[in-house]
Amino acid sequence: MARYIGSVCRLCRRENLKLFLKGDRCYSDKCAFDRRSYPPGQHGQRRGRKNSDYAIQLREKQKVKRMYGLSEKQFRLFFKRADRQKGITGTNLLVLLECRLDNVVYRLGFVNSRIQGRQLVKHSHFLINGKKVNIPSYMIKMGDVVEIREKSRNMQTIKDSLDAVVRRGIPQWLDLEKESLKGMVKGYPVREDLTMPIQEQLIVELYSK
Ligand code: SF4
Repeated sequence: MARYIGSVCRLCRRENLKLFLKGDRCYSDKCAFDRRSYPPGQHGQRRGRKNSDYAIQLREKQKVKRMYGLSEKQFRLFFKRADRQKGITGTNLLVLLECRLDNVVYRLGFVNSRIQGRQLVKHSHFLINGKKVNIPSYMIKMGDVVEIREKSRNMQTIKDSLDAVVRRGIPQWLDLEKESLKGMVKGYPVREDLTMPIQEQLIVELYSK
């Protein structure tokens, strides 16, 4: 499936939730969702539509998929992997998504959004345990050290992101040494660390049909 190249703000309006896909803009009064918090399109403002169970499950899946910027194929692979693991499939899925490198650099505040994270990872701006990694879907492990490459430390985008991260905070499973621009993976996220309103059980129900 082709990657979505339209306006990402439409995705927030479609999912009726701020997905924080545009970095600083999401916190400003320019946020399209804050201005027009109804679905996009000609019938966006139509009221009283009752959604079927399928439609509700589908929307939940689309919401999480769009939040992490994945294609349907990539998302399904994550689901299969989560399903094979021990424990609760829905929670496993969210934990796996959180462990992607493009998400981790976002959580550490090196970038302002996962989209930007993916781009900078692809351009080889980060090291994992001292080695260059340019795969956004790379899965980090406990004890890994994520750092910005020497030559990339003065990038204005990274400096701005580090200044802005205080707004969202660093999750407890990660640790950031701001002076040395190093992030440490202290452990794996638990369900309580994921504060976005996600009902992962609906995704499990959708894929279990
Ligand atoms: Fe979503 Fe951010 Fe656009 Fe607001 S500015 S609609 S939160 S992507």
